[in-house]
Amino acid sequence: MVNMQTVTNDAIKVLKDKIKVLKAAEGSIYLVGPIKLPVNLHGETVNFQWYCWLNSKEETEDIGQIIDNLSSANLAEYQQSSVLVYGDFQNNEEALIRMHSICHTGDIFGSKRCDCGYQLKQSMQMIVDNGSGALFYLANHEGRGIGLFSKAMAYILQENGSDTVEANEKLGFVDDSRNYSDAIEVLKALRSKPVTLITNNPKKLKALKDAGLPVSGRTPLWGDVSEYNERYLQTKIRRSGHLEEAGTFLHD
Ligand SMILES: [Zn+2]
Repeated sequence: MVNMQTVTNDAIKVLKDKIKVLKAAEGSIYLVGPIKLPVNLHGETVNFQWYCWLNSKEETEDIGQIIDNLSSANLAEYQQSSVLVYGDFQNNEEALIRMHSICHTGDIFGSKRCDCGYQLKQSMQMIVDNGSGALFYLANHEGRGIGLFSKAMAYILQENGSDTVEANEKLGFVDDSRNYSDAIEVLKALRSKPVTLITNNPKKLKALKDAGLPVSGRTPLWGDVSEYNERYLQTKIRRSGHLEEAGTFLHD
């Protein structure tokens, strides 16, 4: 729905301290939050603080003008990224973070063609067990950055003999076009102390280090191997440089 009304002073008064304008490589990032979000995690209710962000070409700090422009920006046609924060993320010495790429099929439908849905819930649990951390949910990373429609085509190619890397390449994409720069800016706004990254992917670790982020280490996340995703997971290890932890995977 497009709303052409002007934002009320009442709304601006409530929101002005809840929206931060961050500098991005190009333009700005608007960060809104924190918002209390109780989440059902493996049958327990866990309270997270939720933030959402939006990339904008504008460079204004005027919250009224920002909100006014958004009402006609048709945001529902695009995806926005967000982050779930747990515990005293700013001050805790040990914080775990996960940069989770959106996976419509795995996260929402519970598809077993990949391990994303499992990784999402498991990394949230690891963050809670650690006492502090943040899960970044990256909305422009569908299918390693190729988008949902192209991912659907890639799945058809996979059903016809290509592996996940070959399928993307046959459609004219590089294997992995994901960018983490906005998420890193948001992370820097929420915490300056070192973080431990939950990932099996050294490229993610390198991207964060290259962006100047203090990363103190990496903790792996494997599991939920089934007949449906075994080939996909093996391709991640053999072709995309994912690290296999001893004894956790590879049946052949
Ligand atoms: Zn997935």
